[in-house]
Amino acid sequence: MPELPEVETIVRSLQPLVGQKIEGLDVINNVVIKQQDYPPGELRGRVIGQISRRGKFIIIGDGGNRFIVVHLGMSGRFYLDDAANPRPRHTHVVLVLQEGQELRYFDPRRFGGIWLTYEPNKVVRRLGPEPLGPELTRDYLAAQCHNRKVAVKTLILNQGVIAGIGNIYADEILHGAGIRPDRPAGSLCPEEIESLRQAMTETLELGIANRGTTFRDYRDGLNLPGGFQNMLQVYGRSGQLCPACGEPICREVIGGRSSHFCPKCQI
Ligand SMILES: [Zn+2]
Repeated sequence: MPELPEVETIVRSLQPLVGQKIEGLDVINNVVIKQQDYPPGELRGRVIGQISRRGKFIIIGDGGNRFIVVHLGMSGRFYLDDAANPRPRHTHVVLVLQEGQELRYFDPRRFGGIWLTYEPNKVVRRLGPEPLGPELTRDYLAAQCHNRKVAVKTLILNQGVIAGIGNIYADEILHGAGIRPDRPAGSLCPEEIESLRQAMTETLELGIANRGTTFRDYRDGLNLPGGFQNMLQVYGRSGQLCPACGEPICREVIGGRSSHFCPKCQI
């Protein structure tokens, strides 16, 4: 599933489109439209005013009060292509631009969706703070962990606590912090909470610097794969050796999610 670094990479790769004129929005499969406050035809002749990210959501503005909010779900792609290239199967929505280009929303599994809305903030209103933003302080994290019995991995996956972290980066962050994913959040001491905060920043920034993680589905806004899959320390590496200490990586299901950790580095 595309997580914060993947969605951020898409948004950055699409920045050259800001200012481009919108020819129209083709809705091929209505089932992915989660909300429609205005008819798609109203976008015709508008320009792309902004392309930004909040959590795992992409937010595109038309320079006025209309917004297209995109979530890629498990397997979605949102990428620029030449209009002359055939649209692949599972292309559900297309933002047609000038000069023969189009932004395609492609999603075989359809866990994602698109909101045509005047109020993008309402779509993302339940999200917690951005992990790379100023609100994610040690005090905030300590307050969220305080007295909580829930596994720390489950806590940081909760989009209402922190926006944008998914299964891959949660495992990598906890390895970076030296904390087992099944530790009750309330058992973390202040030093561990600070390690967690630092590992969150470092891991997500490294993921962005390497343009995200591609196993199979993920592509950036130019339909190119990322490179962070080659730098993973624990995720998807059960039985292989921990790059830090040489111990074999363990895999356990925690909170219903497949979890990978080093039994020696992470306590
Ligand atoms: Zn280790």
